[in-house]
Amino acid sequence: MDNRTIGILGGGQLGRMLTEAAHRMNLKIAILDSEDAPAKQINARNPHVCGSFTDPSAVRELARQCDILTVEIEHVNTEVLEEIAELGVEVTQDGRVTRRKVKVQPNWRTIRIIQDKYLQKQHLHSLGVSTAESVALSSNSAEAVADAGRTLGYPLMLKSRIQAYDGRGNFPVRSPSDIPTALQALGERPLYAEKWIEFAREVAVMVVKTENGSSGGDDDAWKRNTLAYPVVETIHEDSICKLVYAPSLHTPPVSAQYTRDAEAMARRAVAGFWGMGIFGVEMFLTDKSELLINEIAPRPHNSGHYTIEACQVSQYDAHLRAILELPFPSGSSDGGSAVLQSAWSPAIRLKSNIAAVMLNILGGSRPDSHIPICRKALETQGATLHLYGKDKSRPGRKMGHITVIAETPHGAQKLVEPLIHMADHVKS
Ligand code: ATP
Ligand code: MG
Ligand code: MG
Repeated sequence: MDNRTIGILGGGQLGRMLTEAAHRMNLKIAILDSEDAPAKQINARNPHVCGSFTDPSAVRELARQCDILTVEIEHVNTEVLEEIAELGVEVTQDGRVTRRKVKVQPNWRTIRIIQDKYLQKQHLHSLGVSTAESVALSSNSAEAVADAGRTLGYPLMLKSRIQAYDGRGNFPVRSPSDIPTALQALGERPLYAEKWIEFAREVAVMVVKTENGSSGGDDDAWKRNTLAYPVVETIHEDSICKLVYAPSLHTPPVSAQYTRDAEAMARRAVAGFWGMGIFGVEMFLTDKSELLINEIAPRPHNSGHYTIEACQVSQYDAHLRAILELPFPSGSSDGGSAVLQSAWSPAIRLKSNIAAVMLNILGGSRPDSHIPICRKALETQGATLHLYGKDKSRPGRKMGHITVIAETPHGAQKLVEPLIHMADHVKS
């Protein structure tokens, strides 16, 4: 299919599912992560680098073995990615040391901006995309948070700018008396404060960027250089994604108008970054019917797992196709007005007569707390079980997921209900 070797920084569950998709297309993958990382377990015959995606020498070693680098996590060292893409990595050829440039997708600049949530928000504002109002803190002091509180009001969400995932960089501050606890919980990381959003729904859209350039000032670029998956509804509990509904089941449903607006907003935002690949866009639909972007991930995303069973091209396939410039099914790349007009039915659609619900399997208080739900999934019509090969379970850790498909959203909901019930039991 393609002789190039793709290097992935990170070998967690997203890297593992990316590797599965690569194997189906005979694409060669090399992974940088710790020895027994989930993605390495299913890619044993290919070369790997053992180490951290934050260590420059480990990233250079991966680059030497690869033709193109990509990420399954944004918390990587972007200085070394910049060096590899712009100056190249040193390689020895015929006894001589030369430099060889290795492509990085998406572009290191995109990863650098996105990995700092506050810079990400500023970039989105520069593109004219709405987000929650936010204030950077000059220091991690009670006075600085109180200042932000005077601007934003209470409650507010205090957030780490960097290294955040699964809500582990967030702390709700309901009143000034919560400030000391919040600062203690979030530690030394640089922080910013965000206005509390009373959302009616959380929605998400996977967007594929198929051209390198950023839209810059071009208002219509998103119609040409992005493809969207359907708008889905996400349900978070304790800041961790629990469920994804494709399409939304809830009444009143996310209306057709909001679906179109959310798709356009997500594509416009992604078009304003650099490089190619899949992006996950998380959004709030507020109780005042306003759409805001919560955050963007420059990689496959939890809210796109359902695409494996429910779409012809999964988010993982799409990422590989985009970064290798391989084709998409005809009709999905017709861009411009054709895609805009068909925004009801996005470029990469659900298969006909398919609705999907994705349920995350989180670890519980015992190492095997999640096993009964896995057994139940095997007994459930329409359910596919994905386990990630993580050897240690801990409360709230993503151990796997289940996607249930049926002909209708209500059909899928009926099938998934007993599993949700069991998931709640694992937690309690
Ligand atoms: P992940 O990357 O795993 O999605 P994260 O750690 O980056 O999570 P966020 O996406 O910022 O965290 O927040 C997690 C959840 O917390 C959101 O999906 C939402 O439910 C809630 N949340 C975040 N920001 C706000 C806010 N400003 N107001 C109200 N709720 C919020
Ligand atoms: Mg995040
Ligand atoms: Mg999030």
